[in-house]
Amino acid sequence: MVIININDYEKILNFEMGIPNVSLSHLDALQAKEITEALKIIFNKYPDLKDSICAVGDAESIKNQMNLILFSFNPNEKWKSFSADRAIMTMYTLKDSGLIFHGLNTPIIFTGLCFEDAFFSNNFETIQSKAVRLGIVTKYTATIKGIVYHEIGHLLDNILNISNSKEFAQILSYKNWNILTEIDFHAVNSLKELLAEAFSEYILNPNPSELVTLLGQLIDRFEKKVQATCFST
Ligand SMILES: [Zn+2]
Repeated sequence: MVIININDYEKILNFEMGIPNVSLSHLDALQAKEITEALKIIFNKYPDLKDSICAVGDAESIKNQMNLILFSFNPNEKWKSFSADRAIMTMYTLKDSGLIFHGLNTPIIFTGLCFEDAFFSNNFETIQSKAVRLGIVTKYTATIKGIVYHEIGHLLDNILNISNSKEFAQILSYKNWNILTEIDFHAVNSLKELLAEAFSEYILNPNPSELVTLLGQLIDRFEKKVQATCFST
């Protein structure tokens, strides 16, 4: 079996997948593998996203490279009590001078995926299973891939403005949903977290709940609409 080390994953992300800033040196090889695989799947499904991710790295390596605003899990009491000060699990980054999403005049403020290495190197599996047990995240969204997809869900939402749309509101008012059982506690935090968590679940869970299915299909419809606009000129 060929052993691939972190450096090899960095090269794949860098040269094969075209992400300019990559540094995973503070993560372990399995985490690097999961991140790389997750992004590969996302880029196949949503090729337009390829140009909007400029950095993938652990916080220690990339935090000084650019003007980052870090987004956290928006810790609340429940989250805090279980993870102490390790509330920031993964973050996406914003930069003032955005890229332009293909032909659209939508400035992309997103620049990358940033992993809090202190969190990831510190008993990730234990924390992960505790979070699942408490219902904060699901067994799918608690994984490294799940976390990547959650952040990609935020990215798609930022680009396509889905959580502000009337279609999104329609799905939410269609039924008196119990978001805790349809998704998880994290999804209850805000409409944006609901969409991100639903997206992650939609990609990973082969048998998602009704709410997750409706929201996942909505995201795909929004994405197709944007692609059609981009390629029609
Ligand atoms: Zn989030």
